[in-house]
Amino acid sequence: MTKCLIVGGGFAGLSAACFLADKGIKVHLLEASPKLGGRAYSFSYKNQIDSDGFKSENVDNGQHILMGCYKNTLEFLRLIGAENNVLFQENLKIKFIKNSGTEHNLNASKLFYPVNLLLGILNYTAVSFKERLSIIKLFVKLIFINPDDYNNITVDQWLNIEKQSDGIIKSLWDIIIVGTLNTTAQKASAGMFIKILKEIFFTGNKSSVVVLPKVSLSEMYCENSKSFIERNGGKVTTSEKVNELVIENGKVIKVRTAKDSYSDFDFVILAVPYHSFEKIINISDLEFKQKLEIEYSPILTAHLWLDGNPFKEKFYGLIDSKVHWLFNHGKYVTIVTSAADEIINLKDDELIKIICSELEKYFPIFYQNVVKEYLILKEKRATFVPTVELIKLRNKLKFSYKNIFVAGDWSNTGLPSTIEGAVLSGRIAADSVISNIR
Ligand SMILES: Cc1cc2nc3c(=O)[nH]c(=O)nc-3n(C[C@H](O)[C@H](O)[C@H](O)COP(=O)(O)OP(=O)(O)OC[C@H]3O[C@@H](n4cnc5c(N)ncnc54)[C@H](O)[C@@H]3O)c2cc1C
Repeated sequence: MTKCLIVGGGFAGLSAACFLADKGIKVHLLEASPKLGGRAYSFSYKNQIDSDGFKSENVDNGQHILMGCYKNTLEFLRLIGAENNVLFQENLKIKFIKNSGTEHNLNASKLFYPVNLLLGILNYTAVSFKERLSIIKLFVKLIFINPDDYNNITVDQWLNIEKQSDGIIKSLWDIIIVGTLNTTAQKASAGMFIKILKEIFFTGNKSSVVVLPKVSLSEMYCENSKSFIERNGGKVTTSEKVNELVIENGKVIKVRTAKDSYSDFDFVILAVPYHSFEKIINISDLEFKQKLEIEYSPILTAHLWLDGNPFKEKFYGLIDSKVHWLFNHGKYVTIVTSAADEIINLKDDELIKIICSELEKYFPIFYQNVVKEYLILKEKRATFVPTVELIKLRNKLKFSYKNIFVAGDWSNTGLPSTIEGAVLSGRIAADSVISNIR
Protein backbone atom coordinates (compact mmCIF):
# COMPACT_ATOMS: atom_id res chain seq x y z
CA MET A 1 0.00 0.00 0.00
CA THR A 2 1.37 3.44 -0.95
CA LYS A 3 2.08 5.66 2.05
CA CYS A 4 2.22 9.44 2.12
CA LEU A 5 3.35 11.71 4.93
CA ILE A 6 1.71 15.14 4.87
CA VAL A 7 3.20 18.07 6.76
CA GLY A 8 0.74 20.83 7.75
CA GLY A 9 -2.93 20.64 8.75
CA GLY A 10 -4.39 23.75 7.12
CA PHE A 11 -6.78 23.63 4.15
CA ALA A 12 -3.91 22.58 1.84
CA GLY A 13 -2.66 19.66 3.97
CA LEU A 14 -6.11 18.45 4.97
CA SER A 15 -7.43 18.50 1.41
CA ALA A 16 -4.31 16.71 0.08
CA ALA A 17 -4.72 14.07 2.81
CA CYS A 18 -8.44 13.58 2.13
CA PHE A 19 -8.09 13.41 -1.65
CA LEU A 20 -5.32 10.79 -1.21
CA ALA A 21 -7.15 8.81 1.49
CA ASP A 22 -10.12 8.66 -0.89
CA LYS A 23 -7.88 7.00 -3.49
CA GLY A 24 -6.71 4.29 -1.07
CA ILE A 25 -3.37 5.89 -0.14
CA LYS A 26 -2.40 5.48 3.53
CA VAL A 27 -1.82 8.99 4.84
CA HIS A 28 -0.25 10.31 8.01
CA LEU A 29 -0.67 14.06 8.60
CA LEU A 30 1.69 15.88 10.99
CA GLU A 31 0.62 19.27 12.32
CA ALA A 32 2.87 21.45 14.49
CA SER A 33 0.15 23.16 16.50
CA PRO A 34 -2.30 21.45 18.87
CA LYS A 35 -5.19 22.27 16.51
CA LEU A 36 -6.00 21.68 12.86
CA GLY A 37 -6.99 24.44 10.45
CA GLY A 38 -3.85 26.57 10.06
CA ARG A 39 -4.93 30.13 9.30
CA ALA A 40 -8.63 29.19 9.23
CA TYR A 41 -9.56 27.80 12.63
CA SER A 42 -11.83 28.41 15.58
CA PHE A 43 -11.34 28.26 19.29
CA SER A 44 -13.38 28.25 22.41
CA TYR A 45 -13.84 31.73 23.86
CA LYS A 46 -15.07 32.26 27.36
CA ASN A 47 -17.72 34.87 26.99
CA GLN A 48 -18.07 36.88 30.18
CA ILE A 49 -21.40 38.56 29.58
CA ASP A 50 -23.67 35.61 28.98
CA SER A 51 -26.63 35.80 31.28
CA ASP A 52 -25.91 32.28 32.56
CA GLY A 53 -22.58 33.53 33.84
CA PHE A 54 -19.41 32.44 32.08
CA LYS A 55 -20.04 30.50 28.92
CA SER A 56 -17.74 29.27 26.18
CA GLU A 57 -18.52 29.58 22.51
CA ASN A 58 -16.58 28.72 19.40
CA VAL A 59 -15.40 31.78 17.50
CA ASP A 60 -13.25 31.96 14.36
CA ASN A 61 -9.76 33.47 14.20
CA GLY A 62 -11.22 35.60 11.41
CA GLN A 63 -14.39 35.59 9.32
CA HIS A 64 -13.88 33.42 6.25
CA ILE A 65 -16.12 33.59 3.22
CA LEU A 66 -16.15 31.27 0.24
CA MET A 67 -17.59 31.98 -3.18
CA GLY A 68 -19.57 29.86 -5.59
CA CYS A 69 -16.50 29.75 -7.86
CA TYR A 70 -14.50 27.87 -5.14
CA LYS A 71 -15.03 24.63 -7.08
CA ASN A 72 -12.19 22.65 -5.51
CA THR A 73 -13.18 23.71 -1.99
CA LEU A 74 -16.83 22.78 -2.53
CA GLU A 75 -15.77 19.41 -3.94
CA PHE A 76 -13.52 18.88 -0.90
CA LEU A 77 -16.39 19.72 1.47
CA ARG A 78 -18.64 17.26 -0.40
CA LEU A 79 -15.96 14.56 -0.17
CA ILE A 80 -15.69 14.85 3.61
CA GLY A 81 -19.47 15.15 4.09
CA ALA A 82 -19.33 18.83 5.12
CA GLU A 83 -21.32 20.43 2.29
CA ASN A 84 -24.22 21.17 4.63
CA ASN A 85 -21.95 23.23 6.88
CA VAL A 86 -22.07 26.15 4.45
CA LEU A 87 -24.89 28.40 3.29
CA PHE A 88 -25.21 29.48 -0.37
CA GLN A 89 -26.82 32.69 -1.54
CA GLU A 90 -29.37 32.11 -4.29
CA ASN A 91 -27.95 34.95 -6.37
CA LEU A 92 -25.21 37.48 -5.64
CA LYS A 93 -26.59 39.94 -3.06
CA ILE A 94 -24.47 42.46 -1.15
CA LYS A 95 -25.70 45.48 0.78
CA PHE A 96 -23.12 48.26 0.69
CA ILE A 97 -23.31 51.24 3.05
CA LYS A 98 -21.87 54.74 2.65
CA ASN A 99 -20.83 56.83 5.64
CA SER A 100 -24.00 58.87 5.31
CA GLY A 101 -25.82 55.63 6.18
CA THR A 102 -27.28 55.27 2.68
CA GLU A 103 -27.70 51.71 1.41
CA HIS A 104 -26.67 50.54 -2.07
CA ASN A 105 -27.48 47.04 -3.23
CA LEU A 106 -25.40 44.99 -5.62
CA ASN A 107 -27.92 42.31 -6.42
CA ALA A 108 -28.01 39.93 -9.34
CA SER A 109 -31.67 39.51 -10.20
CA LYS A 110 -33.46 36.21 -10.85
CA LEU A 111 -33.30 36.84 -14.61
CA PHE A 112 -31.06 34.66 -16.73
CA TYR A 113 -27.27 34.85 -16.43
CA PRO A 114 -25.26 36.96 -17.29
CA VAL A 115 -27.98 39.58 -17.97
CA ASN A 116 -28.89 39.42 -14.26
CA LEU A 117 -25.34 40.52 -13.32
CA LEU A 118 -25.37 43.39 -15.79
CA LEU A 119 -28.73 44.54 -14.44
CA GLY A 120 -27.29 44.28 -10.93
CA ILE A 121 -24.54 46.72 -11.90
CA LEU A 122 -27.02 48.96 -13.68
CA ASN A 123 -28.97 49.26 -10.41
CA TYR A 124 -25.91 49.81 -8.18
CA THR A 125 -26.67 53.31 -6.91
CA ALA A 126 -23.37 53.87 -5.07
CA VAL A 127 -22.08 55.34 -8.35
CA SER A 128 -23.69 57.60 -10.97
CA PHE A 129 -25.56 56.13 -13.95
CA LYS A 130 -22.76 57.20 -16.29
CA GLU A 131 -20.25 55.41 -14.03
CA ARG A 132 -22.38 52.26 -14.05
CA LEU A 133 -22.23 52.22 -17.86
CA SER A 134 -18.47 52.56 -17.66
CA ILE A 135 -18.31 49.53 -15.32
CA ILE A 136 -20.48 47.50 -17.68
CA LYS A 137 -18.24 48.45 -20.61
CA LEU A 138 -15.23 47.12 -18.68
CA PHE A 139 -17.09 43.94 -17.69
CA VAL A 140 -17.92 43.22 -21.32
CA LYS A 141 -14.29 43.82 -22.28
CA LEU A 142 -13.18 41.41 -19.52
CA ILE A 143 -14.83 38.51 -21.33
CA PHE A 144 -12.37 38.81 -24.19
CA ILE A 145 -9.07 39.59 -22.44
CA ASN A 146 -6.34 37.20 -21.34
CA PRO A 147 -5.25 37.81 -17.71
CA ASP A 148 -1.65 36.83 -18.50
CA ASP A 149 -1.35 39.83 -20.82
CA TYR A 150 -1.66 42.03 -17.70
CA ASN A 151 0.95 40.35 -15.48
CA ASN A 152 3.36 43.29 -15.81
CA ILE A 153 1.09 46.01 -14.43
CA THR A 154 -0.73 46.70 -11.17
CA VAL A 155 -4.50 46.88 -10.79
CA ASP A 156 -4.19 50.61 -10.22
CA GLN A 157 -2.43 51.04 -13.58
CA TRP A 158 -4.99 48.85 -15.33
CA LEU A 159 -7.96 50.78 -13.88
CA ASN A 160 -6.33 54.02 -15.05
CA ILE A 161 -5.86 52.64 -18.55
CA GLU A 162 -9.53 51.63 -18.50
CA LYS A 163 -10.51 55.17 -17.39
CA GLN A 164 -12.36 54.06 -14.26
CA SER A 165 -13.27 57.18 -12.22
CA ASP A 166 -12.23 57.72 -8.58
CA GLY A 167 -15.87 57.20 -7.60
CA ILE A 168 -16.02 53.77 -9.27
CA ILE A 169 -12.69 52.75 -7.78
CA LYS A 170 -13.75 53.74 -4.25
CA SER A 171 -17.29 52.36 -4.44
CA LEU A 172 -16.63 49.13 -6.32
CA TRP A 173 -13.13 48.11 -7.35
CA ASP A 174 -11.37 48.87 -4.05
CA ILE A 175 -13.92 46.73 -2.22
CA ILE A 176 -13.52 43.80 -4.60
CA ILE A 177 -9.71 44.09 -4.56
CA VAL A 178 -9.41 44.19 -0.77
CA GLY A 179 -12.04 41.46 -0.40
CA THR A 180 -10.49 39.02 -2.86
CA LEU A 181 -6.77 39.85 -2.66
CA ASN A 182 -6.45 41.43 0.83
CA THR A 183 -4.34 44.27 -0.56
CA THR A 184 -4.56 47.54 -2.45
CA ALA A 185 -4.86 48.34 -6.16
CA GLN A 186 -1.39 49.92 -5.97
CA LYS A 187 0.24 46.61 -4.96
CA ALA A 188 -1.80 43.87 -6.64
CA SER A 189 -0.98 42.31 -9.99
CA ALA A 190 -3.61 43.21 -12.61
CA GLY A 191 -3.19 39.76 -14.19
CA MET A 192 -4.18 38.08 -10.91
CA PHE A 193 -7.13 40.43 -10.38
CA ILE A 194 -8.49 39.97 -13.90
CA LYS A 195 -8.22 36.21 -13.49
CA ILE A 196 -10.26 36.36 -10.28
CA LEU A 197 -12.88 38.65 -11.82
CA LYS A 198 -13.31 36.23 -14.71
CA GLU A 199 -13.65 33.29 -12.27
CA ILE A 200 -16.27 35.09 -10.20
CA PHE A 201 -18.36 36.68 -12.92
CA PHE A 202 -17.89 34.61 -16.07
CA THR A 203 -17.94 30.96 -15.07
CA GLY A 204 -21.67 30.60 -14.39
CA ASN A 205 -24.43 32.19 -12.34
CA LYS A 206 -23.52 30.35 -9.14
CA SER A 207 -19.85 31.44 -9.25
CA SER A 208 -20.56 34.95 -7.97
CA VAL A 209 -22.64 33.93 -4.93
CA VAL A 210 -21.24 34.34 -1.43
CA VAL A 211 -20.97 31.12 0.58
CA LEU A 212 -20.85 31.49 4.37
CA PRO A 213 -19.92 28.93 7.02
CA LYS A 214 -23.01 27.95 9.06
CA VAL A 215 -20.87 26.72 11.94
CA SER A 216 -17.44 27.60 13.34
CA LEU A 217 -14.50 26.85 11.03
CA SER A 218 -13.27 23.87 13.04
CA GLU A 219 -16.76 22.36 12.89
CA MET A 220 -17.08 23.34 9.24
CA TYR A 221 -14.16 21.28 7.92
CA CYS A 222 -11.47 20.31 10.48
CA GLU A 223 -13.45 17.71 12.39
CA ASN A 224 -14.91 16.17 9.21
CA SER A 225 -11.45 16.05 7.59
CA LYS A 226 -9.92 14.27 10.57
CA SER A 227 -12.65 11.65 10.77
CA PHE A 228 -12.58 11.16 6.97
CA ILE A 229 -8.83 10.47 7.10
CA GLU A 230 -9.19 8.09 10.06
CA ARG A 231 -12.17 6.25 8.52
CA ASN A 232 -10.00 5.63 5.46
CA GLY A 233 -7.15 4.08 7.45
CA GLY A 234 -5.05 7.26 7.85
CA LYS A 235 -3.74 9.06 10.91
CA VAL A 236 -3.61 12.69 12.11
CA THR A 237 -1.02 13.77 14.68
CA THR A 238 -1.13 17.27 16.14
CA SER A 239 1.51 19.06 18.29
CA GLU A 240 4.29 17.52 16.21
CA LYS A 241 6.47 19.96 14.33
CA VAL A 242 8.61 18.80 11.41
CA ASN A 243 12.13 20.20 11.69
CA GLU A 244 14.08 18.58 8.90
CA LEU A 245 13.98 16.35 5.85
CA VAL A 246 16.88 14.00 5.25
CA ILE A 247 17.55 13.81 1.53
CA GLU A 248 19.69 11.29 -0.34
CA ASN A 249 20.09 11.13 -4.13
CA GLY A 250 17.23 13.58 -4.65
CA LYS A 251 14.85 11.52 -2.49
CA VAL A 252 13.52 12.25 0.98
CA ILE A 253 14.37 9.24 3.12
CA LYS A 254 13.59 10.54 6.58
CA VAL A 255 11.41 13.21 8.17
CA ARG A 256 12.61 14.44 11.55
CA THR A 257 10.18 16.04 13.97
CA ALA A 258 10.71 17.54 17.42
CA LYS A 259 9.58 14.21 18.92
CA ASP A 260 10.38 11.43 16.47
CA SER A 261 11.63 10.52 13.03
CA TYR A 262 9.75 8.81 10.21
CA SER A 263 11.02 6.81 7.26
CA ASP A 264 8.09 4.52 6.50
CA PHE A 265 6.64 6.46 3.56
CA ASP A 266 6.80 6.59 -0.23
CA PHE A 267 5.96 10.29 -0.66
CA VAL A 268 5.94 13.48 1.37
CA ILE A 269 3.70 16.50 0.79
CA LEU A 270 4.89 19.72 2.40
CA ALA A 271 1.77 21.85 2.98
CA VAL A 272 3.21 24.59 5.19
CA PRO A 273 3.43 28.37 4.67
CA TYR A 274 6.52 29.57 2.78
CA HIS A 275 8.22 30.92 5.93
CA SER A 276 8.08 27.38 7.41
CA PHE A 277 8.97 25.72 4.12
CA GLU A 278 12.24 27.68 3.95
CA LYS A 279 13.20 26.35 7.37
CA ILE A 280 12.48 22.70 6.57
CA ILE A 281 14.01 22.56 3.12
CA ASN A 282 17.27 23.84 1.74
CA ILE A 283 16.30 26.20 -1.09
CA SER A 284 19.67 25.70 -2.80
CA ASP A 285 18.83 21.96 -3.21
CA LEU A 286 15.90 22.85 -5.42
CA GLU A 287 15.82 23.07 -9.19
CA PHE A 288 14.23 26.48 -8.66
CA LYS A 289 16.89 28.04 -6.45
CA GLN A 290 15.51 31.50 -6.12
CA LYS A 291 14.11 32.49 -2.74
CA LEU A 292 10.60 33.99 -2.92
CA GLU A 293 10.40 37.44 -1.36
CA ILE A 294 6.92 37.22 0.09
CA GLU A 295 5.22 40.29 1.52
CA TYR A 296 2.42 39.44 3.94
CA SER A 297 -0.79 41.36 4.51
CA PRO A 298 -2.63 41.49 7.85
CA ILE A 299 -6.33 41.06 8.65
CA LEU A 300 -7.90 42.53 11.76
CA THR A 301 -11.02 40.94 13.17
CA ALA A 302 -13.21 42.24 16.01
CA HIS A 303 -15.98 40.11 17.48
CA LEU A 304 -18.52 42.36 19.24
CA TRP A 305 -21.21 41.15 21.65
CA LEU A 306 -24.06 43.66 21.66
CA ASP A 307 -26.91 44.57 23.92
CA GLY A 308 -29.58 43.85 21.30
CA ASN A 309 -28.61 43.28 17.67
CA PRO A 310 -29.93 46.01 15.34
CA PHE A 311 -28.55 44.45 12.12
CA LYS A 312 -30.92 42.78 9.68
CA GLU A 313 -28.63 41.45 6.93
CA LYS A 314 -26.18 38.51 7.17
CA PHE A 315 -23.39 40.85 6.13
CA TYR A 316 -22.67 44.41 4.93
CA GLY A 317 -19.86 46.01 2.94
CA LEU A 318 -18.71 49.47 4.05
CA ILE A 319 -17.66 51.88 1.28
CA ASP A 320 -14.52 53.94 1.90
CA SER A 321 -14.24 53.06 5.59
CA LYS A 322 -11.42 51.98 7.92
CA VAL A 323 -13.39 48.78 8.46
CA HIS A 324 -14.56 46.80 5.46
CA TRP A 325 -17.19 44.24 6.41
CA LEU A 326 -19.72 43.52 9.12
CA PHE A 327 -20.90 39.91 9.52
CA ASN A 328 -23.97 39.28 11.62
CA HIS A 329 -23.89 36.07 13.67
CA GLY A 330 -26.98 36.94 15.70
CA LYS A 331 -25.41 36.57 19.15
CA TYR A 332 -22.44 38.68 18.09
CA VAL A 333 -21.17 40.61 15.06
CA THR A 334 -17.77 40.35 13.40
CA ILE A 335 -16.04 43.39 11.95
CA VAL A 336 -13.29 42.77 9.42
CA THR A 337 -10.55 45.10 8.23
CA SER A 338 -8.56 43.58 5.39
CA ALA A 339 -5.08 44.84 4.39
CA ALA A 340 -5.02 46.33 7.90
CA ASP A 341 -1.37 47.56 7.84
CA GLU A 342 -2.27 51.02 9.12
CA ILE A 343 -4.07 49.91 12.26
CA ILE A 344 -2.82 46.42 13.06
CA ASN A 345 -0.25 47.64 15.61
CA LEU A 346 -2.67 49.82 17.58
CA LYS A 347 -3.74 48.72 21.05
CA ASP A 348 -7.11 47.01 21.53
CA ASP A 349 -8.71 50.00 23.30
CA GLU A 350 -7.64 52.31 20.44
CA LEU A 351 -8.94 49.84 17.87
CA ILE A 352 -12.34 49.43 19.47
CA LYS A 353 -12.75 53.22 19.47
CA ILE A 354 -12.00 53.40 15.74
CA ILE A 355 -14.31 50.48 14.98
CA CYS A 356 -17.21 51.89 17.02
CA SER A 357 -16.81 55.35 15.56
CA GLU A 358 -16.90 53.91 12.01
CA LEU A 359 -19.97 51.82 12.83
CA GLU A 360 -21.76 54.87 14.27
CA LYS A 361 -21.03 56.83 11.09
CA TYR A 362 -22.21 54.05 8.78
CA PHE A 363 -25.16 52.65 10.74
CA PRO A 364 -27.46 55.26 12.37
CA ILE A 365 -28.99 52.28 14.25
CA PHE A 366 -25.70 51.57 16.03
CA TYR A 367 -24.51 53.23 19.27
CA GLN A 368 -21.18 52.30 20.82
CA ASN A 369 -22.68 51.86 24.26
CA VAL A 370 -24.46 48.71 23.00
CA VAL A 371 -21.08 46.91 22.89
CA LYS A 372 -21.02 44.72 25.98
CA GLU A 373 -17.84 42.83 25.20
CA TYR A 374 -15.30 42.59 22.41
CA LEU A 375 -12.48 40.38 21.25
CA ILE A 376 -9.83 41.67 18.84
CA LEU A 377 -7.82 39.22 16.76
CA LYS A 378 -4.78 40.17 14.70
CA GLU A 379 -3.46 37.92 11.96
CA LYS A 380 -0.30 39.67 10.77
CA ARG A 381 0.59 37.11 8.12
CA ALA A 382 -2.98 36.42 7.01
CA THR A 383 -2.24 36.28 3.27
CA PHE A 384 0.60 36.94 0.87
CA VAL A 385 0.44 40.03 -1.33
CA PRO A 386 0.08 39.04 -5.03
CA THR A 387 2.50 41.68 -6.32
CA VAL A 388 3.53 41.85 -9.97
CA GLU A 389 7.03 40.52 -9.08
CA LEU A 390 5.82 37.65 -6.90
CA ILE A 391 3.21 36.41 -9.35
CA LYS A 392 5.71 36.40 -12.22
CA LEU A 393 8.27 34.48 -10.11
CA ARG A 394 5.69 32.07 -8.71
CA ASN A 395 4.62 31.11 -12.23
CA LYS A 396 8.11 29.62 -12.66
CA LEU A 397 8.21 27.59 -9.40
CA LYS A 398 9.41 24.02 -9.87
CA PHE A 399 10.56 21.46 -7.31
CA SER A 400 12.88 18.69 -8.28
CA TYR A 401 12.76 16.04 -5.54
CA LYS A 402 11.55 12.65 -6.71
CA ASN A 403 9.16 11.91 -3.85
CA ILE A 404 8.26 15.29 -2.40
CA PHE A 405 5.44 17.58 -3.49
CA VAL A 406 4.60 21.06 -2.36
CA ALA A 407 1.22 22.50 -1.40
CA GLY A 408 0.04 25.65 0.37
CA ASP A 409 -1.79 28.75 -0.85
CA TRP A 410 1.56 30.31 -1.86
CA SER A 411 2.46 27.49 -4.26
CA ASN A 412 2.02 27.73 -8.00
CA THR A 413 -1.75 27.43 -8.38
CA GLY A 414 -2.40 30.63 -10.32
CA LEU A 415 -4.78 31.69 -7.53
CA PRO A 416 -4.40 34.27 -4.74
CA SER A 417 -3.93 33.51 -1.04
CA THR A 418 -7.33 31.99 -0.40
CA ILE A 419 -9.01 28.82 0.80
CA GLU A 420 -9.57 27.87 -2.84
CA GLY A 421 -5.87 28.40 -3.61
CA ALA A 422 -4.92 26.21 -0.63
CA VAL A 423 -7.37 23.43 -1.51
CA LEU A 424 -6.36 23.48 -5.18
CA SER A 425 -2.69 23.22 -4.13
CA GLY A 426 -3.57 20.17 -1.99
CA ARG A 427 -5.39 18.61 -4.92
CA ILE A 428 -2.47 19.24 -7.31
CA ALA A 429 -0.01 17.67 -4.82
CA ALA A 430 -2.33 14.66 -4.31
CA ASP A 431 -2.69 14.20 -8.09
CA SER A 432 1.11 14.36 -8.45
CA VAL A 433 1.50 11.59 -5.88
CA ILE A 434 -1.04 9.44 -7.69
CA SER A 435 0.51 9.97 -11.10
CA ASN A 436 3.93 9.07 -9.68
CA ILE A 437 2.67 5.71 -8.33
CA ARG A 438 1.86 4.49 -11.81
C1 LIG B 1 -8.14 36.29 9.37
C2 LIG B 1 -8.11 35.62 8.02
C3 LIG B 1 -9.21 35.76 7.18
C4 LIG B 1 -9.20 35.15 5.93
N1 LIG B 1 -10.31 35.24 5.15
C5 LIG B 1 -10.39 34.50 4.04
C6 LIG B 1 -11.62 34.44 3.31
O1 LIG B 1 -12.62 35.06 3.67
N2 LIG B 1 -11.65 33.67 2.19
C7 LIG B 1 -10.57 32.95 1.76
O2 LIG B 1 -10.67 32.25 0.76
N3 LIG B 1 -9.37 33.01 2.42
C8 LIG B 1 -9.27 33.75 3.56
N4 LIG B 1 -8.10 33.77 4.26
C9 LIG B 1 -6.91 33.06 3.72
C10 LIG B 1 -6.97 31.55 4.04
O3 LIG B 1 -7.24 31.35 5.42
C11 LIG B 1 -5.61 30.91 3.71
O4 LIG B 1 -5.26 31.20 2.38
C12 LIG B 1 -5.64 29.39 3.86
O5 LIG B 1 -6.23 29.01 5.08
C13 LIG B 1 -4.20 28.87 3.78
O6 LIG B 1 -4.17 27.48 3.98
P1 LIG B 1 -2.80 26.67 3.89
O7 LIG B 1 -3.12 25.26 4.24
O8 LIG B 1 -2.11 26.97 2.62
O9 LIG B 1 -1.85 27.31 5.03
P2 LIG B 1 -2.07 27.37 6.59
O10 LIG B 1 -3.50 27.53 6.90
O11 LIG B 1 -1.12 28.39 7.10
O12 LIG B 1 -1.65 25.92 7.11
C14 LIG B 1 -0.31 25.52 7.26
C15 LIG B 1 -0.22 24.58 8.45
O13 LIG B 1 1.12 24.08 8.52
C16 LIG B 1 1.48 24.01 9.89
N5 LIG B 1 2.95 23.99 9.96
C17 LIG B 1 3.80 25.00 9.70
N6 LIG B 1 5.08 24.60 9.88
C18 LIG B 1 5.01 23.29 10.25
C19 LIG B 1 6.00 22.33 10.57
N7 LIG B 1 7.30 22.63 10.53
N8 LIG B 1 5.59 21.07 10.92
C20 LIG B 1 4.27 20.73 10.95
N9 LIG B 1 3.29 21.64 10.66
C21 LIG B 1 3.66 22.89 10.30
C22 LIG B 1 0.86 25.26 10.49
O14 LIG B 1 0.77 25.15 11.90
C23 LIG B 1 -0.48 25.29 9.79
O15 LIG B 1 -1.47 24.57 10.50
C24 LIG B 1 -8.05 34.41 5.49
C25 LIG B 1 -6.95 34.30 6.34
C26 LIG B 1 -6.96 34.88 7.58
C27 LIG B 1 -5.79 34.71 8.51
